[in-house]
Amino acid sequence: MEEVPFVVLGTGMAGLGAAYALKAAGARFVCYDKNNSVGGHSRSLRYDNGFTFDEGGHISFTKNAHVQEVFSENVRGSYVESRLTIDNYWQGLRLPHPIQNNLRHLPAELIVQIIADYKASDTCASEGQTSRPSHQTYADWLHRSYGPTFAKTFPMIYGKKYHTTDTENLTTDWIGPRMYRPTIEELVRSALPGTTPIPNYIDGFRYPKTGGFVSFLEPFSDTFRIRVNKRATHLDPKKRTLQFADGETISYGTLISSIPLPDLISIMKGAPDDVLSASKKLAFSTVWLVNLGVGRADVSDAMVTYFYDEDIIISRINLPHLFSPGNAPDGCATIQAEIYFSDRFKPCVDSPQDLIQRTIADLRRCKILREDDRILLADAVVARHANVIYDFDRVPALRVVHGYLDEAGVRYCGRFGHWDHAWTDQAFVSGEDAARAALGS
Ligand SMILES: Cc1cc2nc3c(=O)[nH]c(=O)nc-3n(C[C@H](O)[C@H](O)[C@H](O)COP(=O)(O)OP(=O)(O)OC[C@H]3O[C@@H](n4cnc5c(N)ncnc54)[C@H](O)[C@@H]3O)c2cc1C
Repeated sequence: MEEVPFVVLGTGMAGLGAAYALKAAGARFVCYDKNNSVGGHSRSLRYDNGFTFDEGGHISFTKNAHVQEVFSENVRGSYVESRLTIDNYWQGLRLPHPIQNNLRHLPAELIVQIIADYKASDTCASEGQTSRPSHQTYADWLHRSYGPTFAKTFPMIYGKKYHTTDTENLTTDWIGPRMYRPTIEELVRSALPGTTPIPNYIDGFRYPKTGGFVSFLEPFSDTFRIRVNKRATHLDPKKRTLQFADGETISYGTLISSIPLPDLISIMKGAPDDVLSASKKLAFSTVWLVNLGVGRADVSDAMVTYFYDEDIIISRINLPHLFSPGNAPDGCATIQAEIYFSDRFKPCVDSPQDLIQRTIADLRRCKILREDDRILLADAVVARHANVIYDFDRVPALRVVHGYLDEAGVRYCGRFGHWDHAWTDQAFVSGEDAARAALGS
């Protein structure tokens, strides 16, 4: 068996980032992916009738000039630049985003209670800064940051739908810029007539004009040595061999993996029991995506809508034809609904057909779809690994798993190698970093 100096496992953002750095360094390498095309989570599904959907609405809002340049080169500058429009659905109301900066749209009694609570929690939060316990839960954080009324009415409900578990079971180390906390002045002003400035960590974004998000990556299929339909099934880190589902075995010098850690550990020969059991503690959510093509273009102005009602199965929708008109035939709209489950906390018991029917019923109830709308496409697809769940097992389990991989000489990168909430640009850069570290050693 001839040894391949560098093998990259997975061809999502991270795997391709690793390949990009290896190519730049003139290294010899081969990438392998179990799917039949590149892109991983950043893939796009192009239906015959002219509709295109990503695997979960993907937009590039990176501020990293290098990643911007790579993407732009790959589509030869053919991308749309837009501002992200977001709103929220709650109990029959469409509320501007974020709700905490737009209280004026809520019932008067609720506004009064939110402000009263917030005032109290404001003091509580600043006192809490110095003595915040390290085991603080997301639920605590929400209470302290927004007061109990707002926390219980909005983010705690949404958090459970999205993360599939109660906010009491979640840590806070993933929040970053994701949750805006207005000052008390901003909050009060947002309850008065007028408009409030809208803070959002995502301002502008780029999206390919045609072909969906994966167009940002697709040219790599021709530039790098990539082998698809190659699911890795056995890894012997001592002999440095990798076997695939089709029986082929290869020998490698260095392995850079971007595949989910529990899957990686499960195929590693000689992985100790404590590592195996730690890897099984790494919780993640699975998303079912219901893709709808609609024979009417003006279904909504918002590119993304969040749903706060518990009895609505959808967590959020995105409208790909608003990212780029190239995603739908003229006069038509696209709606993609995200519905979250997890093996650990909320296994899926619905059939794909049930999920489609429930999504359509919910969207009619919210008046996003009309009874007489023509549904030209209805499909449900699953992404098994959607988001990492930041529960209290994550950090100790990661320590064990990463420690073992470091010892075994296996490099890891990407959202499911670092087991975090990396966005596409961060995943790409983490792949580049892993490759550079491998080259350096
Ligand atoms: C619903 C949703 C919406 C998102 N929206 C955005 C957004 O708008 N903007 C943004 O920047 N980020 C977004 N993200 C995050 C983004 O998807 C990730 O950052 C990125 O795709 C992670 O890339 P990755 O290469 O680390 O992982 P992946 O894309 O998951 O790549 C892993 C690859 O490994 C392959 N693989 C797995 N097992 C094996 C095996 N045994 N053998 C061979 N190959 C294997 C898989 O097929 C896959 O191609 C979103 C994520 C989700 C879930």
